[in-house]
Amino acid sequence: MYDIVLWYYDDYCIESDKEKSVTFFSEMSIKFEQKLNLKKYNAYCIDSVCSKAWFPKNELELLTIYDKNPDKKKIIIGNGNNIILSKKYYEEEFIILNDCFNVIQIIENGMTAEAGATLQQLSGTALLNSLSGLEIFYDIPSSVGGAIVMNAGTKDGEIKDIVIKVRYLDLADMRVKEIAKEKIEFGYRNSFFQKHSNNIILKAWFNLRKGNQVDILKKMEQCKEKSLVRIEICHIPV
Ligand SMILES: Cc1cc2nc3c(=O)[nH]c(=O)nc-3n(C[C@H](O)[C@H](O)[C@H](O)COP(=O)(O)OP(=O)(O)OC[C@H]3O[C@@H](n4cnc5c(N)ncnc54)[C@H](O)[C@@H]3O)c2cc1C
Repeated sequence: MYDIVLWYYDDYCIESDKEKSVTFFSEMSIKFEQKLNLKKYNAYCIDSVCSKAWFPKNELELLTIYDKNPDKKKIIIGNGNNIILSKKYYEEEFIILNDCFNVIQIIENGMTAEAGATLQQLSGTALLNSLSGLEIFYDIPSSVGGAIVMNAGTKDGEIKDIVIKVRYLDLADMRVKEIAKEKIEFGYRNSFFQKHSNNIILKAWFNLRKGNQVDILKKMEQCKEKSLVRIEICHIPV
């Protein structure tokens, strides 16, 4: 059992005294696969095997993976749409967030989402809860983490327009920190996280407004073929 300090920044990134300790679980309880072919985890379906792939299902499991194996280099995959696997075999361990690290919650002024949630899941959940602001992201293949790293968007808007703050693990000091939107240095397909890859995005807060489901769906349909929208939103859990 190990302890790690969680160090929270307030909304304006001023260091606060809200420190607390967390006790890790054993890494044995975390899902992993040895010698995994990553073909189905990258959009280009490249055949590439990694020594080990982890599938954390919550923040504590993700922190534990880093804590227990500090010397082993790790590569994060969100939804795998912006990575090219150039090697047949990777000695590095992969951490796959897609489909496991993806809890979405409704909050007073919008939504929170773990880094592995997809923008499709996010905008679908917003629709079901009559929340507007995510419509244009329905058609962008991305996880929340990947979208923040590169400030994903279209000519109609970018993820920076709705981010409130982001929680991340700083591997330099193994502390969990929160950074407000104003400090994320968002630019065209760029951000603080693009420039400082030693930080793992854990969770993001999004500012949304109440809207009309019909209008939200109409806007989503403009971004996506009608048939796909109708079929998929019916199956997205709230
Ligand atoms: C068909 C297609 C259409 C696209 N359309 C658009 C578009 O309209 N607009 C647009 O902006 N982009 C578009 N893209 C690009 C892609 O959707 C974005 O780059 C997307 O944000 C990538 O997210 P991902 O989760 O797939 O990232 P991944 O490919 O999984 O990862 C990309 C990088 O981010 C890092 N990363 C991922 N998650 C985290 C995390 N939690 N913490 C730290 N680092 C992390 C990875 O290590 C990697 O370096 C498109 C791509 C495809 C294939």
